[in-house]
Amino acid sequence: MACEIKTTCPYCGVGCGVIARVGDDGAVSIKGDPEHPANFGRLCSKGSALAETLDLDGRLLHPEIGGRRAGWDEALDLVAERFSQAIAEHGPDAVAFYVSGQLLTEDYYIANKLMKGFIGSANIDTNSRLCMSSSVAGHRRAFGSDTVPGTYDDLELADLVVLTGSNLAWCHPVLYQRLSAAKASRPEMKVVVIDPRRTMTADIADMHLAIKPDGDTALFNGLFAHLVTSGAVDQNYISAHTSGFAEAFAAASALDLAGLSAASGLTQSELRDFYRLFETTEKVVTCYSQGVNQSAAGTDKVNAILNCHLATARIGRPGMGPFSLTGQPNAMGGREVGGLANMLAAHMDIEKATHRDQVRRFWGAPMVASKPGLKAVDMFRAVADGRIKALWIMATNPVVSLPDADAVEAAVKFCPFVVVSDVLRETDTARHAHVLLPSLGWGEKNGTVTNSERRISRQRPFLDAPGEARADWWQLAQVARRMGYAEAFDHASPAAIFAEHAALSDFENEGRRDFDIGAHATIDQPGYDALLPFQWPQPKGSAPQVRRFFADGGFFHPDGRGRFVAVDAPKVRPINDAFPLTLNTGRVRDHWHTMTRTGKSARLSGHLAEPFVEIHPCDAQTIGVADADLVTIESPFGAAIVRALVTERQAPGNLFVPMHWNDQFASKARIDALVAPVTDPVSGQPASKNVAVRAARF
Ligand code: SF4
Repeated sequence: MACEIKTTCPYCGVGCGVIARVGDDGAVSIKGDPEHPANFGRLCSKGSALAETLDLDGRLLHPEIGGRRAGWDEALDLVAERFSQAIAEHGPDAVAFYVSGQLLTEDYYIANKLMKGFIGSANIDTNSRLCMSSSVAGHRRAFGSDTVPGTYDDLELADLVVLTGSNLAWCHPVLYQRLSAAKASRPEMKVVVIDPRRTMTADIADMHLAIKPDGDTALFNGLFAHLVTSGAVDQNYISAHTSGFAEAFAAASALDLAGLSAASGLTQSELRDFYRLFETTEKVVTCYSQGVNQSAAGTDKVNAILNCHLATARIGRPGMGPFSLTGQPNAMGGREVGGLANMLAAHMDIEKATHRDQVRRFWGAPMVASKPGLKAVDMFRAVADGRIKALWIMATNPVVSLPDADAVEAAVKFCPFVVVSDVLRETDTARHAHVLLPSLGWGEKNGTVTNSERRISRQRPFLDAPGEARADWWQLAQVARRMGYAEAFDHASPAAIFAEHAALSDFENEGRRDFDIGAHATIDQPGYDALLPFQWPQPKGSAPQVRRFFADGGFFHPDGRGRFVAVDAPKVRPINDAFPLTLNTGRVRDHWHTMTRTGKSARLSGHLAEPFVEIHPCDAQTIGVADADLVTIESPFGAAIVRALVTERQAPGNLFVPMHWNDQFASKARIDALVAPVTDPVSGQPASKNVAVRAARF
């Protein structure tokens, strides 16, 4: 019988509500959920094509061991045995989980509980490390917590929206639709786009600032200094609610306008105009995304932005605030359960003995990892040099997506025991697995995700599980039980896991931590089935609410104050005579990550059919390349061959190549093979922008 199920899109961090209609004949159609507060019925091209991606071609339908079909018991026994053996012989830090912002919160929760509480290592990291960990680190330095202060409504309420390092039109399209509609109805609203490329997002911009890669710290330091010297700061707020202002101001004042111009690549006139616009507009939202985060100075860039909002008290009030846009559908949910190697569950700190003790007692765990684990890039280095003896990769394809991807592939090949849980049988990573475990895909999975504005929504199943595929949380819990932890992993359902997660957020919290969804600690199956999208926090006994943070202070540092952070503009430019061009990687409108789902849709693949490099006409002329020629791009780490797209949208000296294509879709197109394994020293996030390369006609 035909039915309609409300669920959530599996792609970007906007987290749009989707209605899946399954007809009498089993055919699925998709439309936007008009009642979901993230999108109010809107969908982008990717979301509206979801029904075209549901076939079972290429699916992994049964467990496999060494390429042969195996039963679940045999495969799970082997995984438990090999992990237990590695731990017994080499200690808990000899094993690792590499997970994903594609996992549902319930999957993530069980993975984190098993690794940090029962195995006793913090070697669990996620591909969200590649996406937003610099924002997490910046939030924690400034706010004492990983808190996004505002809501999506703020973008519509603002009089000035600054988009830096964000191609919102392609990477968060429904939010772009909301912003465009707001600007159309209030033409006095201003939009500033800061990006080395003139992206589609810049089409609605009143000002496009074609910044140098990594020029953002200088730009926002200069803005901070300008706000102080022009008297635009809120001294009462600074005195009452913050610390570190003088040191941060001194650092921000290091460059004069000429120096700022040189460091940012913007003219003095552009700088003056932007600074004046920000100074004179009360309602300002600054959105930032991977163009800020994916940098060797990503955390400093985030804090340079936060400094400007703290100084003007433009935070946590309608239409005002800094806004981190997460890339993935559940990067936020992963953060909430401690899916990063340097965090504990429920936004608690792994470095704090009191927090470790709280989590240990709540879980009834024998121990809780006492130090941060290996972050993504370091984790695969440890695989390469033999420190990691057993690795479990879930719902991600690191052989394509991590920097220095060829070295990552060599490391995975070298690892003594690799488990891959995935929906697909053939991925660049899965082909190196000793054990393959078939996972549920979108439309089959059951759980929750959190979007960029802290809104938790249900992903509901509307398709039967194909073959023998099982949920990721179930796979993890089954292995945990076989490792001797049956009592702690006896969850009967995602609803039971969500209730435990909510109860932990409430446990000995009393308002000391930002993440609190204690109102759902006793949720039952009917309640979970009917759960409406809600924003956290929702403490015990409270109704769903719209909550902004920090308008009146209330930061989560022990003294309750927010922190200005003194940051210096990075001085080193990676390019040199041998590699004179700067490569920036990013997304296109109609593909998602390594295209394992969107690559199934002919409609989506028709937008941009093959990997390409955007190159400025002057650079194209220098290397003798014409539009549509094949181009070889090389770095010291690897090479790729892509089609030239000669365009003045690109700044001279810069190249843009999308990160989606892999060797399944085009020969030698894994662009992350060129990216140096350089990371931000605070967040551990790789610098997937500003890579020194050279280019030549193929
Ligand atoms: Fe899905 Fe993002 Fe598009 Fe919304 S904007 S439909 S969440 S891809």
